[in-house]
Amino acid sequence: MGTVGRKIAGKNVDEIINLMNKALADEWLAYYQYWVGAQVVKGPMRAHVEAELKEHAEEELKHANMLSKRIIQLGGTPILNPSEWVKLSNCKYDEPKDPHVMSVLKQNIKGEQCAIAVYKKLLEKVMASQDFISVNMVRKIMEDEVEHEDDLEALKEDLELTK
Ligand code: FE
Ligand code: FE
Ligand code: MG
Repeated sequence: MGTVGRKIAGKNVDEIINLMNKALADEWLAYYQYWVGAQVVKGPMRAHVEAELKEHAEEELKHANMLSKRIIQLGGTPILNPSEWVKLSNCKYDEPKDPHVMSVLKQNIKGEQCAIAVYKKLLEKVMASQDFISVNMVRKIMEDEVEHEDDLEALKEDLELTK
């Protein structure tokens, strides 16, 4: 932990650390949902959907890295036990029981929409705290989540056109 680095993050550091840990839980669950979705998915355009799911899984893992690094910089501890993930997460986990491409896409679109809302709120928080380093990071993550939603909705649109 950098002493001045923590000080310049504003007065709400502990609250920000908590919110970042909740977002970290979301990222791990999103990672697994994409990862396992890519394993089981079937139906039209399978290869396309599978590739996109795998790519997004990697990107969610990157978000988890960014969050945990920032949590540590701010003097916090990233979640140490996976049993906390579901408990702490905002967006929970949608088990892909139906492996059809359309169901998997719909579940992940819902997850991305939840993630966008979570980062919008977190961005407002870190902006209010004048924690500019976190502002930068949260903006980058939010940009990815917006892209994820857009990518998945485009795939869903293409699938609907094959009918
Ligand atoms: Fe993410
Ligand atoms: Fe995402
Ligand atoms: Mg993508």
